Amino acid sequence: MPEPILLTPGPLTTTRVTKEAMLVDWGSWDGAFNALTASVCRDLADIAQAGNTHVCVPLQGSGTFAVEAALGTLIPKTGKVLVPNNGAYCQRIVRILGYLGRKALVLDFAEDEPADPECIDAALLADSSITHVAQVHCETGTGILNPLAEIATVVQAHGRRMIVDAMSVFGVIPVDLQTMPIDAVIAASGKCLEGVPGMGFVIAERETLAAAQGNCHSLAMDLHDQWAYMQKTGQWRFTPPTHVVAALRAAIDQYKEEGGQAARLERYAENCATLVGGLRSLGLRTFLDDMVQAPIIVTFHAPPDAAYDFAEFYRRVRDRGFILYPGKLTTVDTFRVGCIGAIGAAEMRRAVDAIGAALQEMGIRQPGAS
Ligand SMILES: *Cc1c(COP(=O)(O)O)cnc(C)c1O
Repeated sequence: MPEPILLTPGPLTTTRVTKEAMLVDWGSWDGAFNALTASVCRDLADIAQAGNTHVCVPLQGSGTFAVEAALGTLIPKTGKVLVPNNGAYCQRIVRILGYLGRKALVLDFAEDEPADPECIDAALLADSSITHVAQVHCETGTGILNPLAEIATVVQAHGRRMIVDAMSVFGVIPVDLQTMPIDAVIAASGKCLEGVPGMGFVIAERETLAAAQGNCHSLAMDLHDQWAYMQKTGQWRFTPPTHVVAALRAAIDQYKEEGGQAARLERYAENCATLVGGLRSLGLRTFLDDMVQAPIIVTFHAPPDAAYDFAEFYRRVRDRGFILYPGKLTTVDTFRVGCIGAIGAAEMRRAVDAIGAALQEMGIRQPGAS
C-alpha cells in the first residue's frame, strides 16, 4: 500500500525531491554544510522581507523549541507579555511564559473569533507595564487567521514590542518586516515550506537580538548565543539537524520554482475550497466562518450521531490512504483536516471521497444534523 497522505499541519506530505535531499550525510564542520545553512537562512529571511533590519537564527528542535527560545531570549526578565488568546497555541505561549518566569496577561477571545485589535489597544492603554505582545498569526488549534498587520500597528502605536508565532502560515500568508513593526517572527521547517520537521527559526530584529545577551535562562535555548556563535564561525553551536537543513534547502528551491508565496497561497486556497466544498456537500459543518478561515487546516464539527467515533473514523479514512487530525477544542467535538503539504486539489477530492465512504460505512447518514 502506498504511504498515506498526511492531512495534518506538520509533519506533512513532502515531495520525493525533498526526501531524496536527505540521502547525503553532511559533516557539521564542513564548509559546504555551513554554506547550506547560510543559504537557507538567507532565503528564510527574504521570505519575511527581513532586509537589513532582521536576521534569521535557526534552532534545532520542533517549532515549540523556537517559540520558547524567542520568548526566553527576546523578553527581558522584567518584561510583561500580553497574549491575545483564541486557541491552543496561544495557550502554549502562556504556559511557556510561566515556565520562563515572565509575567503574562491573557486577553481571551472566543475560539471562533479573531483577536481584536481594538481590545488589544484597550489592554495596552490600561496597563503601561506590558512590554510585549505575543501573537499567534494563524491559530492552528482551529485554523483561524488573526489580523496581524492591524495588531502590529496598534502595538507600535503604544511603543510596545511584538513577537509573532507565524508557524503555521509562514511562506503562505505574507509577513513583511519592512512594513509591519514586528520584533520577531517564528516558524519551522516542517510546515508550509514543506520541509521535514526538526528545525525552527526566528527572524529577529538585529538590534533587539544584539541587546538580548543575558536574557535567556537556558544555554540550549539562547538565541543570542546561537546567533553570535554562528556569525563568528558559520556553524551551529551544537549538533545541527543536517538532513533537515538539506531537505529544507530542497523544499525552498521547489517553493521558489512553484512561484513563491503567491503560488503556494493559491494552491492551498484551492485545496481548502475543495475540501470545504466537498465535506459540506456530504453534510459536514465547519467550525469557523469562511471569512476568518486560513487555508491551512479546517476544523469540522463531528457528526452528532451515536455511530460516530473519531478513532474508528480515523482508522477507516486511514485505510483509504489519508491521515486526519483530531480536534483540539474542549467544548465542542470536532476533527481537523489539513490542506497544506505537497498535495493539490486532486488529492483533496480523493480525501473527500474517502471521508464520505468512511461515514457511510459507519452508518452516519446525516453528518451535519443536530
Ligand atoms: C506547529 C505549530 C507550533 C509548533 O508545534 P511543534 O509541535 O512544536 O512543532 C507552534 N505554533 C503554531 C501556531 C503551530 O502551528
